[in-house]
Amino acid sequence: MLISLIVPCYNEEQSLPFLYKALCDLRNELAPDGKSFEFIFVNDGSTDKTKDVIKYMASKDGDVRYVFFSRNFGKEAAMYAGLEASRGEYVAILDADMQDPPSLIPEMVRSLDSDEADIVAARRVTRKGEPIIRSFFARRFYKLINRMIEVEIADGARDFRLMRRIVVDAILSVSERQRFSKGIFAWVGFRTKWIEHVNVERVAGETKWSFWKLFKYAIDGIVAFTTAPLRLATIAGFSSASAAFLYMIYYFIRAVILRIYDTVPGYPSLLCFILFIGGLILMALGVLGEYIGRTYIETKGRPIYIKAEDENSGRTTSPDT
Ligand code: UDP
Ligand code: MG
Repeated sequence: MLISLIVPCYNEEQSLPFLYKALCDLRNELAPDGKSFEFIFVNDGSTDKTKDVIKYMASKDGDVRYVFFSRNFGKEAAMYAGLEASRGEYVAILDADMQDPPSLIPEMVRSLDSDEADIVAARRVTRKGEPIIRSFFARRFYKLINRMIEVEIADGARDFRLMRRIVVDAILSVSERQRFSKGIFAWVGFRTKWIEHVNVERVAGETKWSFWKLFKYAIDGIVAFTTAPLRLATIAGFSSASAAFLYMIYYFIRAVILRIYDTVPGYPSLLCFILFIGGLILMALGVLGEYIGRTYIETKGRPIYIKAEDENSGRTTSPDT
């Protein structure tokens, strides 16, 4: 039985040798069970020697396959490309930096073999070694998104998981461009088993995620899976309009019935209200803009990634391909 392991790589020249060694150990460990492997490295437009490292591995090892992107398209696109290229009956996605311990894979394989689940996914139970502010916002984000969307995204869930072919095909059928895989994995359903592990720090190199990149990723996640913010804007608009209406009645009663004419002292409150409403309008427009912008990008129907090269490039191919 063939198992595909997909590794998205962006500037990972230092980690790849470690990972490759671990993958080879894994292959030896599972060979007696009749498992064979293909290692698919997706080079996401790295600017270092990642490409050369991958090509070198491929030249030595027939199980190594690769897809090179024409530029950096992001990890989401890299995972999609890997899934598309995969041929295995079981497919796993793991990071190049060994933060997704390959040593968990045998256990994952056993779970699928014994038909306990269709997806075995890893979950970090600690965020040790991560900046405190990042952990804090990450936790908030999972709380917030889970309150808004219909499927549950587990806190600490990683992209690291082993899936059956049927799940992979389901994920590939979700072909939106702004991909938020953690949501897509949950959205396609199937029986998921969680394996918990403590956080592992990357073996070499450094993280590609700045705080700003993570923030944008969080917004993408929310906008991709729920229109709740739009509803929030509606509710905020409705409540402030109602408040304004009550305020109007109050002044009407004061002026017309009680005949109190001291309108000038009301100037600061007026200013406050104008600013408040102005802010709400801008916010609602911003929220609207997020959705319209995404709709615009989706309607263009551009491909998720552009392939520059793969392991078949340069080889002689049959005339019809
Ligand atoms: N990655 C990628 N494209 C990117 C950024 C990251 O393919 O634009 C890959 C990266 O090489 C690694 C994985 O995604 O294999 C996770 O990235 P990283 O370790 O930087 O993220 P972290 O573990 O810090 O969340
Ligand atoms: Mg990492």
